[in-house]
Amino acid sequence: MSISTVAVIGLGNMGGPMAVNLAKSGLATRGFDVSDQARSIAEEAGVQTFDTAVEAAQGAEAVITMLPNGDLVKKVVGELVESDSTAKLYIDSSTVSVQDAREVGELINEQGSLFVDAPVSGGVTGSQAGTLAFMVGGTEEAFNQAKPLLDIMGRSITHCGQSGNGQAVKACNNMILAVQQLVLSEAIVLGERLGLEHQAFFDVVSNATGNSWSLSVNAPIPDVVPTSPANSEFKPGFSSALMLKDLKLAMESAQATGTNTVLGKIAADTYAAFVEDGHGNLDFSAVINELRH
Ligand code: NAD
Repeated sequence: MSISTVAVIGLGNMGGPMAVNLAKSGLATRGFDVSDQARSIAEEAGVQTFDTAVEAAQGAEAVITMLPNGDLVKKVVGELVESDSTAKLYIDSSTVSVQDAREVGELINEQGSLFVDAPVSGGVTGSQAGTLAFMVGGTEEAFNQAKPLLDIMGRSITHCGQSGNGQAVKACNNMILAVQQLVLSEAIVLGERLGLEHQAFFDVVSNATGNSWSLSVNAPIPDVVPTSPANSEFKPGFSSALMLKDLKLAMESAQATGTNTVLGKIAADTYAAFVEDGHGNLDFSAVINELRH
């Protein structure tokens, strides 16, 4: 199937720039968002926008959804499947539960079209730069059809197996990240109380077995690494609210599979309290401040 027209539903912080990059690559790119503002920003950057998802999908061979949650993905995809949509390929890049991804995939497959779940990492900067990492679940055929589109929007595209597996690996990765960020924060605060300078901590640990992305790129202390949100009062980056969302999805999967995730549960509870305290808009590394109390 050659794809010349694509529709993007959800033109927010992530979906907007993804649609713009598709348009810039020369594909006819149609879009819809419930927000007038999101529609007009995308329209100005070369995306043709419409008043409904169904209209946006008309004539498109592929539909990409980038929406806040699984319920909205199910609602939008349900509407498209019931319409006389021409799309033969659906890509959902939203972060949703594995179960929701598989449900959506079945619905689309029953209608005779292909589906991949293709959640991302790389954030808004990656979306704008076209350097997202896509974790893809679906059949070989669906993956091969989706790959040329994903290549336009991303730099690293990994086929992770059956439908839902993109969401599965994303939940696992972010659970690791949250736990690492917490233990790193505990160690930094412990070091502070033992009289250790931040720079000495960084110089040793970033070159030792305790190193991680959380330290070498996202250190929760200012002035040790240029990429750190701590240098700009924890402006995200990756917000604590989004981290909490992903941890809740991981906990949902842990419960569904009877998996013992003690550390993941502590991380989920810690971020829930942090967000409840009004810090949802801060980078998730700001959680170190909670540990200083
Ligand atoms: P966002 O809120 O900026 O964008 C979502 C957009 O969907 C909004 O513009 C909203 O108006 C629109 N929308 C809501 N209901 C709709 C509907 N029924 N039809 C059409 N549009 C609708 O969120 P975002 O940051 O772009 O995130 C999108 C997805 O990407 C989420 O699932 C999020 O978890 C995931 N994600 C975000 C990041 C990030 O750094 N922002 C990173 C990785 C993954």
